[in-house]
Amino acid sequence: MRPEILFELFSPVTSLPGIGPRNAKLVEHLAGSNAIDLLWLLPREIIDRRYNPAISAAVPGRIATLTVRVDSHIAPPVRRQPYRVICSDDTGQITLIFFHARPDYLTKQLPEGQTRVISGRIEAFRGEVQMTHPDHFAAPEEAAAILRVEPVYPMTANLAPKVLSRAITAVLGKLPDLPEWLDPAYLKKQQWPAWRSAVTTVHHPVDSASLSPQTPERMRLAYDELLANQLALAVMRTRLKRSAGRSLKGDGSLKKQVYRSLPFKFTGSQITALKEIDADMAASGAMLRLLQGDVGSGKTVVALFAMLNAVECGGQAAMMAPTEILARQHFETLRALLEPAGVSIALLTGRHKGAARQRILEAIASGETNVVVGTHALFQADVAFKALMLAVIDEQHRFGVHQRLTLADKGRGIDVLVMTATPIPRTLTLTVYGDMDVSRLTEKPAGRKPVDTRTVPLARLPETIDGVARALERGAKVYWVCPLVDESEVLDLAAAEERFTEFKARFGDIVALVHGRMKPAEKDAAIARFVEGDARILVATTVIEVGVDVPDATVMVIEHAERFGLAQLHQLRGRIGRGEKASNCLLLYGQPITETARSRLKILRETEDGFRIAEEDLRLRGAGEMLGTRQSGLPEFRLADIALHGDLLAAARDDANLILNRDPELKSDRGKSLRILLYLFGRDAAIVNLRSG
Ligand code: ADP
Ligand code: MG
Repeated sequence: MRPEILFELFSPVTSLPGIGPRNAKLVEHLAGSNAIDLLWLLPREIIDRRYNPAISAAVPGRIATLTVRVDSHIAPPVRRQPYRVICSDDTGQITLIFFHARPDYLTKQLPEGQTRVISGRIEAFRGEVQMTHPDHFAAPEEAAAILRVEPVYPMTANLAPKVLSRAITAVLGKLPDLPEWLDPAYLKKQQWPAWRSAVTTVHHPVDSASLSPQTPERMRLAYDELLANQLALAVMRTRLKRSAGRSLKGDGSLKKQVYRSLPFKFTGSQITALKEIDADMAASGAMLRLLQGDVGSGKTVVALFAMLNAVECGGQAAMMAPTEILARQHFETLRALLEPAGVSIALLTGRHKGAARQRILEAIASGETNVVVGTHALFQADVAFKALMLAVIDEQHRFGVHQRLTLADKGRGIDVLVMTATPIPRTLTLTVYGDMDVSRLTEKPAGRKPVDTRTVPLARLPETIDGVARALERGAKVYWVCPLVDESEVLDLAAAEERFTEFKARFGDIVALVHGRMKPAEKDAAIARFVEGDARILVATTVIEVGVDVPDATVMVIEHAERFGLAQLHQLRGRIGRGEKASNCLLLYGQPITETARSRLKILRETEDGFRIAEEDLRLRGAGEMLGTRQSGLPEFRLADIALHGDLLAAARDDANLILNRDPELKSDRGKSLRILLYLFGRDAAIVNLRSG
């Protein structure tokens, strides 16, 4: 339960002045649905309104705040002309200009004969001093509220900046005094302010230097956010590790047998990874290891051998995939290798219902099934294992940490191996996985040909389609990836459907379509047609990003590649170049293309090394282009910027580990304050695990 001291901060934005249902939607889109989300919306710019000259001295082009007398209103003879309000002070006259004015509103706000404070940009026009649409006009008593450095917040269409800043001011007025959760010595060393003061200060910038991510206030808030992240991950990790693991040392019989049936030898990094996994499993504590490897680097077979180790010890293993398609593929791949060795394997997904599901559950519960592959259906409460010893989780960043734990909870001291095909820079690994042990597969299996990647302007779409036609005639299989439009699935879909219809008209029945809105069965059917070869061109949205394995597909065209993130393009391209044949990837880009997007495409042309691509991705994002979570698959921080605050992240990790070593249940005074920190950043799940652990 969230502590009472945070109730106000977590009240809905509609509780704030000026935020009704209509504005609430806009605020939610911009920041989030609770008052606290507005606190995390930091000013991006400032407008200095402290320049306060007499009218005759006002310099054109500058933002000025003037104290004037309202002399007269001049309504235009025709509505197309602007409405004018003549004002003056002892030194001169200024004309306020309003287009599409509402006269009754203006006469109320600027009554003739009264003194008003106005603020906006000074203009000189035909010898007159003017101000078009002043940003503020107020009675002289309110001058102080205007005569200041005004923070400028990120904007969204139709939400008036004034409404937003009024709401933010209201939240700032309700800031509770929270107990300090940072170590006093560290706080002092960094010369950081207390939380409340930091929050207040970041919303009251005094100059452009106060917008820097490196101010003590912004650093402190970034650190808070990172500490909450690291602490939450460390709680999970401690909990997994605390449940006594057991020493698993298989006799190697199954592994030998299966290895002999493989059509290849392990790469050096597969051997190293397996040694590390074997050592973890043999150790008495529970394993918590991340297996990082590029698409096609052979993680699945590494996981297979870890699972065989568990089976050799008389236990069961489970592998969880993020999608139905992937689960099915893993199941087929593994079954082909396991069944000949006498290991029984089952598939369990959301699509298994009723009696069929019951039979699978019984076989898992009795231990008759050695290995289970599935989707999040494996989490469900009625899935009970006889002796689950190893949980393998594929493409983990698509699951929550909490879910990872749920699977590991299905037995005592379960070893956990997390696989990710998204190569992540080292610093980011920490934010997603916390302080896990890491094995990396850095080599491509032998016999793979590099993918020839080219960039082509979208204007050459017709030639590109002709090129695809020729490739199809030669018998190639082609992925055609449709652009990511906005962040909207509906629009992505429309684009894909249009392309599909066009291709069907030209190429006939060899065209298949797959997108995220299809039912799982339809999706699988479309992909199956592509795998089996009856469909040879697959028009897709980014749903094919994860895992789809069609080794004989050799061509990929990505429309509007400039709209995709680097990591995502890399993932997509990883769908080709998986077989013996040479592959081609065409990145079609539209105009205008930003410098950063251009750099992204260039990197893809230059390399297929996922780890290098990931580092470049971070560097480019540090250079100012943030990608949404949807594109990067990484956690999104509101206050911290990993590219800039990397050192803080390492410190937060150390801090989190130290804290939990000393006070594993966060019961001390500082521990109690840290609980508030966890709630503050929505890490409620971590708290639940503290208690039940
Ligand atoms: P990942 O899961 O890392 O994307 P996979 O495990 O699916 O990669 O492997 C991709 C393909 O490479 C599979 O067909 C697999 O059988 C094959 N493979 C795995 N390891 C090797 C190896 N050492 N040499 C050759 N091929 C391999
Ligand atoms: Mg895989």
